[in-house]
Parts: sequence; C-alpha cells; structure tokens
Amino acid sequence: MLTVKDLVKYFPVTGGVFKRKVADVHAVDGVSFSVGRGETLGLVGESGCGKSTLGRTIAALYDATSGSVRFDGTDLTYFSEKEMKPYRRRIQMIFQDPFESLNSRHSVGEIIEEPLVIHGIGDGPARRKRVGELLSTVGLPQTAANRFPHEFSGGQRQRIGIARAIASSPELLICDEPVSALDVSIQSQIINLLLDLQEEMGLTTLFIAHDLAVVRLISDHVAVMYLGKIVEQTDADTIYKTPLHPYTQALISAIPVPDPGAVSNRIILEGDVPSPIHPPSGCRFHTRCSHVMEICRATEPEFADQGDGHMVACHLYEGKS
Ligand code: SF4
Ligand code: MG
Repeated sequence: MLTVKDLVKYFPVTGGVFKRKVADVHAVDGVSFSVGRGETLGLVGESGCGKSTLGRTIAALYDATSGSVRFDGTDLTYFSEKEMKPYRRRIQMIFQDPFESLNSRHSVGEIIEEPLVIHGIGDGPARRKRVGELLSTVGLPQTAANRFPHEFSGGQRQRIGIARAIASSPELLICDEPVSALDVSIQSQIINLLLDLQEEMGLTTLFIAHDLAVVRLISDHVAVMYLGKIVEQTDADTIYKTPLHPYTQALISAIPVPDPGAVSNRIILEGDVPSPIHPPSGCRFHTRCSHVMEICRATEPEFADQGDGHMVACHLYEGKS
C-alpha cells in the first residue's frame, strides 16, 4: 500500500547578510520501507531524528529532496498540487498537538466538515449528517458540533482531530505522535479508538512516536530511526524480544518496568543527539554507542537482513546473516 524508497529530505540552512544557503539539515537521509494494506508500521526515535519530517514528506506536506513515495501503486513523489488532490482525500494525517492543528475560530462541526467541503463530498445536509456520525464514531456528543476547540480537553481535541482525519474515508492514516501530549490514561483511550477505526475502516497506518511502549500497543512492524536513517526494522514482537541495534536496545531498556522490585537494566545513552547538519561519519550512532569499534567511525554499516526480514544497520552483525 505504501512503499518509500531512498527518501531524502534536506532543509537548507541560510546564513550571512545575503541569506545564502550555508548547509543542509539532513532530516531524512535515505529511508526505505513498505507498509502492507491494513497494517500498521510504528516509527520510533528521539525528537529531532526526522520522523515527523518523514511523515510530512510522505503526506506530501513537504516536497521530497530525492527518492520516492508510492501509494497504492502510484508514485506521488513529484506530483503537482493538482495531481495530488485526489490522493489527499485518501491520505490523512493526525498531529501531536490537536489544539495547534485545529482552527480555533471554527466550530468543531465546521472543522470536521471542512475536508468534506474541500473534496466535494455530499451536499450541505448530507455533510452535517456525516459530521454527526463522525462525532459518535470518535465518542463525542452531538452537541460538540456547535462548540469550539478550546472548550475541550486534550484527549477530546485529539478525538476531534481524528474525526476530521477520517471524514474523507482515507485509506492511509499518518499519525504524528498523536498521544505524546496526553496523560497516560487518555493515551490508551485514544489508542483504543485508533485500533477500532483501523479494524472498521481497514486503515493502513504509519504511527510515529518517541515512545516504544506506546508503539507496541498498535504496531504490526516497528522501524527505529536515528538521525535521519532507519537503523532497525522487524515485526513488533521481535523488536521487543530480541532488539539487535544498540540504539534500539537502549530505547527498549528505557521502557518502565511494571514491577517496582525488578532490577532495572536500563542502558543510559551518553551525550546528546548529534546535529543533523553535520551527522557523524560512518555509523551515525558511533558517538553514543557503548559497542563502538574502529570501523564504526569510518564506514557506514549496511542495512541488512539478519533473517526473517529482521533488518539492522550495525557492524556488530555484519557477516553473520
Ligand atoms: Fe555501535 Fe558500531 Fe553498531 Fe554503530 S555500527 S551501532 S557504532 S556497534
Ligand atoms: Mg516530531
């Protein structure tokens, strides 16, 4: 359903009095993966790793620098806005901050109706009926239609954002940290709502998060991203049971253990995420990796299959597949 190949997105950094380009931010730097119809890929990494940029480039909110995005067999990468329009109906996004992404001067009814208007779906009465159905689908009362986003809690606002995103009956839903700003108890309600919708609508989902614990609840496959690149990808069970990449191992060890008496095996990552303007040579994780070897500083590891489609980019495993 979705195939991303060698996708690159750089942002220019300008400087000096003439605002000339002086460097590039390597936000997404050669990413490839695919998601089957009805499946969910969880995309995980620390903030600044490029995962939001990747989501927005796939949704054609940003132009790709190079590489390709194929959706349902069609290469959308370099489509004009006009060519893209029928696909916008089929690909929708949910954002981290539902408050920022909802127009505060519009009523909730108008917000949810907007994609129906844009895509010419139904006449006035049919659209308002649809808004009513969407409100109940996401668990909000009908009276919500006449109220405004600021009158709702964070979790309710995310429900409004979801109602708007599913209004045009999309096939691909890109969720950019949809629960990161919410309390833990509300997070699970929103995740459950998304799981129900996936089942009812057969949605294909790209679920972006910085938290592996959240992704676990919803994903069939998980991809781990570090500084613009995917460093490991496999099915959701395997990534939690046998993570291979030292970065994934550190992320997994950071998931809180429910038993307070259990010994914590938390791996503390030293240092900050390096700048994506001048990413480290060789393996981009080498400045923070406790297994770093000489080769890691000089040579970029290949993203290779270690068996059963468990992909990893790390010199520790080279020649072992
Ligand atoms: Fe660590 Fe080297 Fe593997 Fe990179 S390639 S994760 S630095 S061991
Ligand atoms: Mg982000």
